[in-house]
Amino acid sequence: MPEIEFTVRWPDGRSQTCISPSRSIEKAIVTGARYPVAEFQRRARAALEAGQSRLRERRGFNCSAAASLIDDLDVAAGSFEDDDLVMIERMRGVRPRRRFPAPERLDGHRSVVVVGGGQAGLAASFELTQRGIDHVILERDRLAASWRDQRWDEFCLVTPNWQCQLPGHPYDGDDPDGFMLKQWIIDYIERYADAFGPPLCEGVAVTSVEQSVDAFVVTTPRGVLTCDHVVLAVGGYHVPRIPPLGAQLSPAITQLHSSAYRNETSLPDGGVLVVGSGQSGAQIAEDLHLCGREVHLAVGSAPRVSRRYRGRDCVAWLHDIGHYRMPITEHPEGLSARNEPNHYVTGRGGGRDIDLRAFARDGMRLHGRLMTGKGEQLEFAADLVKNLDAADATAERIKDTIDRWILGQDIVAPAEERYEPVWQPPYGGGEPLDLAAAGLRTIIWATGFTPNWGWVKLDVFDERGYPEHERGITKVDGLTVLGLPWLHTWGSGRFAGIAEDARHVCEHIAAKVGANVADPAPSAA
Ligand SMILES: Cc1cc2nc3c(=O)[nH]c(=O)nc-3n(C[C@H](O)[C@H](O)[C@H](O)COP(=O)(O)OP(=O)(O)OC[C@H]3O[C@@H](n4cnc5c(N)ncnc54)[C@H](O)[C@@H]3O)c2cc1C
Repeated sequence: MPEIEFTVRWPDGRSQTCISPSRSIEKAIVTGARYPVAEFQRRARAALEAGQSRLRERRGFNCSAAASLIDDLDVAAGSFEDDDLVMIERMRGVRPRRRFPAPERLDGHRSVVVVGGGQAGLAASFELTQRGIDHVILERDRLAASWRDQRWDEFCLVTPNWQCQLPGHPYDGDDPDGFMLKQWIIDYIERYADAFGPPLCEGVAVTSVEQSVDAFVVTTPRGVLTCDHVVLAVGGYHVPRIPPLGAQLSPAITQLHSSAYRNETSLPDGGVLVVGSGQSGAQIAEDLHLCGREVHLAVGSAPRVSRRYRGRDCVAWLHDIGHYRMPITEHPEGLSARNEPNHYVTGRGGGRDIDLRAFARDGMRLHGRLMTGKGEQLEFAADLVKNLDAADATAERIKDTIDRWILGQDIVAPAEERYEPVWQPPYGGGEPLDLAAAGLRTIIWATGFTPNWGWVKLDVFDERGYPEHERGITKVDGLTVLGLPWLHTWGSGRFAGIAEDARHVCEHIAAKVGANVADPAPSAA
């Protein structure tokens, strides 16, 4: 049976680690959330009993582990008032299925150590394998961990499936214009790994990368490796960012980061405030809205793009126009494009626009940018009108670009009416909000991530802590990075562009190690 370990911090500060024999607990409580004791008990009991009854149906016996955990929690909860607060400190699968278990001890020398077993690490491994370069991938968790553990249940790609172009493993399904759901994305990555068998070691966190006189020294809890080259493929989304004002808010409000959100059933009853209207915030707000939750959304400056225009997905037009081939060095905003929020749109339901005005028309309460907060009182900037107008203006500018392309290329494409706002705010968005009075019990912070490169003890970071590089190649000889947003092009931090970047970086490594730099075989299959 699957087991989930979760740690509860009781109101008196005591921590209790519990093992749930069933995964249903993951749908009932969420890491980082605070629940009143009575509600926590109700949720945990319901989840454990649901798991028990499934087991009874399948196997015909009762699960004593679930029953005794329910008893334990009841005993512990008995010392507190119903509305005292319990916090869920962490939750993880204790027996995750490891497809690529690491050896007990790691030591010796490799040509290359790749850190990170997501799509970027695998893409690098594929390119190195094709060139016969010995290497190992160290992944602290599991293959594709961020897709598994940092996305909500109804997550699906925003980019069309045909853009999934891992090297040697382009999308091969029958819905190229569709948008893979979370499990399909994981399957796509797992099939990739199965196809070429990367030297992946799961469950090995790299705790430091340093340089000795003649090699890099890569330290892990399972031992120390040396190598000539390091590829940092640890993604661009490291530490969930929660603004400091979160600490000023009442403990009665459950707060979690967008990366910890799974589904509406795991949230306390009542309304939810989502802070941030980038891709995650806008989609999570929609997810909750579709479930019938009362949703408030603090709208920031994220831009919007329409899903389709003049008969095609806007992504397809922008691809033809060459937008995705543009290197960051030619981007009108220069390197600062790396820090811009993504345009909001969704692949849900086969792909559609996200129109915050339509949500507001249908009952969602929109606010301006969240500015300050204390206890249960929040203050917003009166910039809602400006933010909605700016997001729409971006979407319309993208359509202008598409129109010009259609005209210039003499393409026959159906005409399409331009967007007309379906709702205008009858207020400025800066009105204060009393969370308790509005019945809001949860805040989801869709406020992005901060980088954490502290374990890379090399002189390669700029004053903002960003690794300085040119197309992934840093000034430290042998150190490369992959998979960062706009590392080279729009697709660098996505499925669309990782192949090109991995090839570039691995050609550089191949030239250094004197390996075969000729075009390798094209397929992982
Ligand atoms: C909400 C969201 C939606 C997205 N939607 C799309 C989309 O629709 N289309 C698209 O193409 N892209 C999308 N992306 C962007 C991108 O595809 C993903 O972020 C993807 O996970 C990046 O892959 P990666 O391999 O670069 O990084 P990750 O998937 O983050 O993999 C990095 C790995 O490194 C491991 N790691 C980190 N530190 C260490 C260490 N010290 N030691 C060992 N291992 C370590 C992590 O456990 C992780 O498994 C989305 C991203 C987010 C956050």
